[in-house]
Amino acid sequence: MCGANGVPAALNGRMISIEPIQRLANADIRSRALPDIVSGRKGSSLGITEPSGGSDVAGMKTTARFDSGTNVINESKTFITGGMTSDFFVIGARTGGDGLAGISLFFVDAATPGFSRTPLDRKMVWWCAD
Ligand SMILES: Cc1cc2nc3c(=O)[nH]c(=O)nc-3n(C[C@H](O)[C@H](O)[C@H](O)COP(=O)(O)OP(=O)(O)OC[C@H]3O[C@@H](n4cnc5c(N)ncnc54)[C@H](O)[C@@H]3O)c2cc1C
Repeated sequence: MCGANGVPAALNGRMISIEPIQRLANADIRSRALPDIVSGRKGSSLGITEPSGGSDVAGMKTTARFDSGTNVINESKTFITGGMTSDFFVIGARTGGDGLAGISLFFVDAATPGFSRTPLDRKMVWWCAD
């Protein structure tokens, strides 16, 4: 174990997004993203928590709809470890009805049009992570 929290923050921030990509993404996404993420050339994050709350995942407000061949995701996420620097994101969004069963995970490239990010204004602790 390492006493510096920046190391587990960096590793865990990656690991929670690597597993869904590895287990759930198609072969194209896996081969495009995983070698760069695992080698450290690119960063990845998991985006679940929203400004309205994080504990109640089943109450997620972000929605996604399929429009003209594109998935359009609306809403915002917060407290995303690595969120200011990651290249790839696994984003939870509601595609179905209420509750957990209505939530899907999307692989999102940070270069996607409409994607934006804002640093947290000020934090009390854990300054080693963004
Ligand atoms: C260092 C750090 C890194 C993080 N990294 C990520 C990340 O990479 N990706 C990501 O998606 N999220 C991330 N998060 C967000 C984290 O998942 C949320 O902070 C967490 O889920 C709690 O959500 P919240 O802060 O909105 O608190 P809330 O959900 O608003 O909860 C506030 C308080 O209310 C309590 N509470 C909530 N619901 C109930 C209930 N029904 N009954 C009783 N008490 C309740 C909670 O226990 C808590 O004490 C990170 C958070 C931190 C601190």
